[in-house]
Amino acid sequence: MTSFDPTPGFAAQLDAQDPLRESRRQFHIPPGPDGQESVYMCGNSLGLQPRSARGAAELQFSNWEQMAVEGHFRGETPWLNFHARLADATARVVGAKPVEVVVMNNLTTNLHLLLVSFYRPTISRYKVLMEGGAFPSDQYALETQVKLHGLSPEDAIVELSPRPGEHTLRTEDITAKIQELGGSLATVVMGGINYYTGQVYDMETITRAGHAVGAKVGFDLAHAAGNIPLHLHDWDVDFACWCTYKYLNSGPGGVAGAFVHERFADQPELLRLAGWWGHDEEERFKMRKGFRPMRGAAGWQLSNSSILTMAVHEAALALHDAAGGMEALRRKSELLTGYLEFLIESLHLPKTVLEIITPADPTQRGCQLSLLVHQNGRNLFDHLMSVGITGDWREPNVIRLAPVPLYNSFQDVQRVGVALSEWAASQQG
Ligand SMILES: *Cc1c(COP(=O)(O)O)cnc(C)c1O
Repeated sequence: MTSFDPTPGFAAQLDAQDPLRESRRQFHIPPGPDGQESVYMCGNSLGLQPRSARGAAELQFSNWEQMAVEGHFRGETPWLNFHARLADATARVVGAKPVEVVVMNNLTTNLHLLLVSFYRPTISRYKVLMEGGAFPSDQYALETQVKLHGLSPEDAIVELSPRPGEHTLRTEDITAKIQELGGSLATVVMGGINYYTGQVYDMETITRAGHAVGAKVGFDLAHAAGNIPLHLHDWDVDFACWCTYKYLNSGPGGVAGAFVHERFADQPELLRLAGWWGHDEEERFKMRKGFRPMRGAAGWQLSNSSILTMAVHEAALALHDAAGGMEALRRKSELLTGYLEFLIESLHLPKTVLEIITPADPTQRGCQLSLLVHQNGRNLFDHLMSVGITGDWREPNVIRLAPVPLYNSFQDVQRVGVALSEWAASQQG
């Protein structure tokens, strides 16, 4: 086990030993109030801009400028098949086969499209299981999907809550609820990581439990993709979706991803909402009647690709690969987050003032730590901002801090420790 120490010298030493230290230089680090590089701990909300992003977009601007409609077929990156360029790198991020993934639309759109196929309620099997307090967009998506089938959300949606006095869900309680719902359970939809607490759910166990009662199981990986290693194919997950602007650094509102397990790849009869871009490539331009989907996740595409955002996404994915992929990032991530946890714990603040609600077990968290600040939370957040530390504030009193292994340093984390101890001292005075 590493023993940490709170001094700047120690943090500098960890940075010097960090095999990923050069990766930070591939990103634009926004300046803080003093004009120096700020400490950006908000990659859970919007990842930083890769230095390669602008050039990737500019290349497509010039293709458009020079070739116009011919850009669909000509140049190094023909737009017609742009989604296929991203399949391999995307598959590596989520632990899938290339045929199982596609980059398209935005996250909530993809969630709806996948639910159309994987939430097929019948008279007896119609319930959806989700985490209580899921991200609002997911709540609204489920609520309206249920209504689309003429069901009432109060009856059809079952929410999981932590035990009294606890902040996170226990896997045994999730699987017990799945068993209890049994043959009434149509679909399980959970986050891979809960956005509020930072808890990683045991996706493999949840999937197995869901399948054992005949339900479909899918995950919203908004906070998981690019943050923790995923093995969607091996875990046998049915479907998943994610955004790319958080840990995948692909720009505000950037294009999103979707996963559909290989076992559905050759099921053209599987009901879906279709568009021409999901139609069999061979005859897409024949403009024939009768939808014939492409194999795999690509068969869920609706529209021609958003090339400017996909080009940026491609550049950002390349940085993940260049860093050695998710396993290499994860090794640094555990140390970086462990260091932040150590610095917070060493303040010895009473739990009535501040507690970390993210699980202490590294296998149950990604990089984010969520601090529940019972007293003067907003004041702490403002103090962090005033010294150039960007975290994010979630009502009523949670501060989320996410040291991201691609671009955060141990010295960044050390600066957060200093700011927290300044604040802690001011609270005692
Ligand atoms: C960030 C996030 C979203 C955002 O949805 P968009 O469709 O990309 O706007 C949805 N769900 C979860 C769990 C998120 O973390």
